[in-house]
Amino acid sequence: MSDTLSFAWAEAWIRDAQAVLAEHRMELIDLDRAIGDGDHGENMDRGFKAVVAKLDEGGIADVQGVLKVVASTLMSKVGGAAGPLYGTAFLRAAKACDGDVDSSGVVALIEGALDGIVSRGKATTGEKTMVDAWTPALEAAKAAAEGGATPAATLRAAADAAAKGAEATIPLQATKGRASYLGERSIGHQDPGATSTAYILGAAADAAEA
Ligand code: ADP
Ligand code: MG
Repeated sequence: MSDTLSFAWAEAWIRDAQAVLAEHRMELIDLDRAIGDGDHGENMDRGFKAVVAKLDEGGIADVQGVLKVVASTLMSKVGGAAGPLYGTAFLRAAKACDGDVDSSGVVALIEGALDGIVSRGKATTGEKTMVDAWTPALEAAKAAAEGGATPAATLRAAADAAAKGAEATIPLQATKGRASYLGERSIGHQDPGATSTAYILGAAADAAEA
């Protein structure tokens, strides 16, 4: 396993993410039906398919280029809250990458994504949003990288923490986004955006381990 992640990883990550989001499209739709308007699975599936179509055109040669194309495509093709939020996340993640990515680069990438989401959506932890997956992901990535983990192991730690964070949104009451309109009735359901975050970071770890 290499100590840096290159363009091949970034491209594999996004292609894996597209496949995983397509596979879980109905699950994300059902989660969003429970506490939102039911479009999250469709939004993410359509958005990542459009991203992969852009990657198929070729002409991108580095990690930053891949993340920038994800950002611009999600921003323009995905409506609702998630498009601009993920678009900003990938744009900030791209800005944090210069060349190949080592373990501290993985931390910087995730930190950039989280900062982007927070600056755009103004949510903090505990509000039942994707912030509740990205925040523990960043903490776990930092701890792993500081402990000398490889980039792949750093991403795996982040992905596992994101999945736990997504699950931990179930008992929370939403106070941001569409789900907040439900008040107490948002309790008892897993947040769709936190769930898609766990899938996206899981794909990043899978691609790094391959
Ligand atoms: P919409 O809510 O417009 O239908 P989506 O269904 O695609 O958009 O995305 C909903 C997800 O967006 C939620 O599950 C939540 O994770 C995330 N979200 C909504 N508002 C915010 C916010 N202010 N900050 C962070 N994430 C948010
Ligand atoms: Mg929705």
